[in-house]
Amino acid sequence: MPDGRHSDGPTEKCGVVGVSLDGRDAARPLYYALYALQHRGQESAGIVTHDGFQQHSHVEMGLVGDAFGEGDLEALKGPTGVGHVRYPTAGSVNSCCAQPFSVSFKSGSLGLSHNGNLVNTAELREELAASGHAFTSDGDTEVIAHDLARNLLEADLIRAVKRTMDRIHGSYSLTIAHDDTILGVRDPQGNRPLCIGELDDGYILASESAAIDVLDGDLIRDVRPGELVVLEEDGAGFDSYQLVEQDNTAHCFFEHVYFARPDSRIDGNLVYDVRRELGRKLWEESGVDSDVVLPVPDSGRAFASGYAEAAQDDGADVEFAEGLMKNRYVGRTFIMPTQDARERAVRLKLNPIRDVVEGRTVTVIDDSIVRGTTSTQLVKLLNDVGAEAVHMRIGAPEIVAPCYMGIDMASREELIAAGRDTDEIREDVGAESLSYLSIDAVAAALEESRADLCLGCVTGEYPYDIEGESTDRDIVRPDIEDPHAGVADD
Ligand code: SF4
Repeated sequence: MPDGRHSDGPTEKCGVVGVSLDGRDAARPLYYALYALQHRGQESAGIVTHDGFQQHSHVEMGLVGDAFGEGDLEALKGPTGVGHVRYPTAGSVNSCCAQPFSVSFKSGSLGLSHNGNLVNTAELREELAASGHAFTSDGDTEVIAHDLARNLLEADLIRAVKRTMDRIHGSYSLTIAHDDTILGVRDPQGNRPLCIGELDDGYILASESAAIDVLDGDLIRDVRPGELVVLEEDGAGFDSYQLVEQDNTAHCFFEHVYFARPDSRIDGNLVYDVRRELGRKLWEESGVDSDVVLPVPDSGRAFASGYAEAAQDDGADVEFAEGLMKNRYVGRTFIMPTQDARERAVRLKLNPIRDVVEGRTVTVIDDSIVRGTTSTQLVKLLNDVGAEAVHMRIGAPEIVAPCYMGIDMASREELIAAGRDTDEIREDVGAESLSYLSIDAVAAALEESRADLCLGCVTGEYPYDIEGESTDRDIVRPDIEDPHAGVADD
């Protein structure tokens, strides 16, 4: 869980990276890049490199700083490699599912880093197992690795990737080391982010551009949905292959609202700017008179500054203040699974500044409400220190359904907004007033049409074919019985 995220927020999935350099070992740049992506996963970290002869791998449970020692980095020889930070979303919470997933096949060695979640893993696993593939984990990344390995026996690299893309269904941004060739693949709907950057002596693929920044590189562009990017082995350039075309994308809007770093650029937008714009739209849609606007730190900050600025532009006499102080030393709250523990975690983590709040009407701005535990506790805390009234404004629509694309959103039963109207939620939370941002405002801030966003968790209609759920578009599920379904030979 990213620093500053609160106990009942959605939990991020994974971060991926891949580099190809001109001679220099890739391990250290990969390590720094993983540090920059640490907010995307704290369960495990790993790097796989290739030195032209053999593959080297180091994968450990824990944070990046704990997973690698100096000796580990020294041992990861070679100028190409991929890395991964993981929060488990499919597969067990143990080292067998930590990534990159690495394996040697007749077709060469593979190291795979995956961000996202396939929705047809079970069928694929069954089909591959029936044709003799043995699995060592229950994660979906190994399924992709086996499928790709099989295709590499029968086709060249580009066609093999295309065949695998035609069989897997769901959300995936992949960095892949096939011997000393580094590949980046983004699913045809571009659900999870992936971008390409240029370094002094090579090229990098990463989940977020912040990982390029820390290496003093330049962001070139996002990997396009359905695109395969192949980094040249000597770091001299990259090739692009548009392997799958689809009419509509399904970008996860939550990347901008919550998951990604504010200093990252995703699908053309600086996340910080998007959050400020969402805050401005929140004022336009549901601004309320109050003495002071408080962000819920840290993720509510950009929303609250946009909201307060828009209010002041409209002539409102309102102050923007940091009235909630965060204790940065409280541990990761997802290890506190009970409701009581989560409530205590909120009290440990956030402390209101009495002088900012006492005797004043307060508008608290947060990015989202999942279970509602944090919001309820916050309103109580602010009332306890003398707030005259506590209004709550949320920079995203109501979360009414779970995510199947790799985000731990909690189950439907746990979501405070599932099947309830805003006034019922307001009553539960104990706020004077409560408003969420509309879906249209989110789409406008992202400069996307609704049809190009994944809105599954806020509408209950998904951009993929998920058993028992409805979809918001026409989808043809891949025919996994035929390994070469829909694939032309050249
Ligand atoms: S369901 Fe929500 S969190 Fe999951 S991918 Fe879609 S928008 Fe993102």
